[in-house]
Amino acid sequence: MKYRDAAEQGNAAAQRAFGWCCEFGKGVTLSFDDAVKWYRKSAEQGNVLAQISLGNLYREGKGVPLDYRRCVAWYRKASAQGHADAQCNLGWCYGTGNGVLKNTSTALKWYEQSARQGHATARDNIHALQAAFAHELQTSAIPFNDERFSIAPDGTIELNSRKCCIYIRNQRRDVDLQKRTTKYRYHLCNCRTIQEMVADGRKDRYVATARDDSLFEVDVNDHPTRNRLVELNMQLCQNCRELLRQRGMYQEPFSLKDFYAKHQSSIPEMFLKKRQEAVTRAYPPDGECV
Ligand SMILES: [Zn+2]
Repeated sequence: MKYRDAAEQGNAAAQRAFGWCCEFGKGVTLSFDDAVKWYRKSAEQGNVLAQISLGNLYREGKGVPLDYRRCVAWYRKASAQGHADAQCNLGWCYGTGNGVLKNTSTALKWYEQSARQGHATARDNIHALQAAFAHELQTSAIPFNDERFSIAPDGTIELNSRKCCIYIRNQRRDVDLQKRTTKYRYHLCNCRTIQEMVADGRKDRYVATARDDSLFEVDVNDHPTRNRLVELNMQLCQNCRELLRQRGMYQEPFSLKDFYAKHQSSIPEMFLKKRQEAVTRAYPPDGECV
């Protein structure tokens, strides 16, 4: 039986196949409108390839107005069925913030599921995401209550496998705005101070950054109703210094730049400029279109 006949009789695989014939103009006049129509019938019956193809058309605005949210919805259904292309593209939606709130860890989760199935683009996207993340960590402060934090075997604190400084964002006392200094300290290790803070449930006072110029973004509360953002110089905590010294990771005068250069796992240059990409693949059926 030809796809069109079977499609008209409600067969999901044939509807998907006939949608493909319409999308690529094989045996019928090329029509994205018809492709959308048949993919949708099939996708609603749970056909995974139709779900991905329909998601792609929404992503590209072909046959439908471009709509990332609908695209996400179809990728999500196809991802739940375990298709690597869908998982890669759902990761892309999260990684770039298209159709869904940008979320690096959710993006990574989907990319990893896809990459485990051998998906090359998903693997490249993981590198691109890590590079973008490393940049974000270098230029801004990220809340310490993120689930991606871990303690490295050398005792340092890492966020998504990047070493970083932990410090208190909201400061008030002991801040000298003239000299741009503060008596607050930053931490590199899971030292006694940090352990106590975590145990006391005061983790949310802390943020992380991998800036290496020893300047830290701080909200200074020097007015009853107003915080202001300033950049202050900070020193390394004594407990952290001692721990680093014991591990041979401390050198006088201490410089974050040197510390990261020596101990931060670097991201190969080749990945730095790479952007995350979504894939569009055609899934040609082997039968006849009409
Ligand atoms: Zn410390």
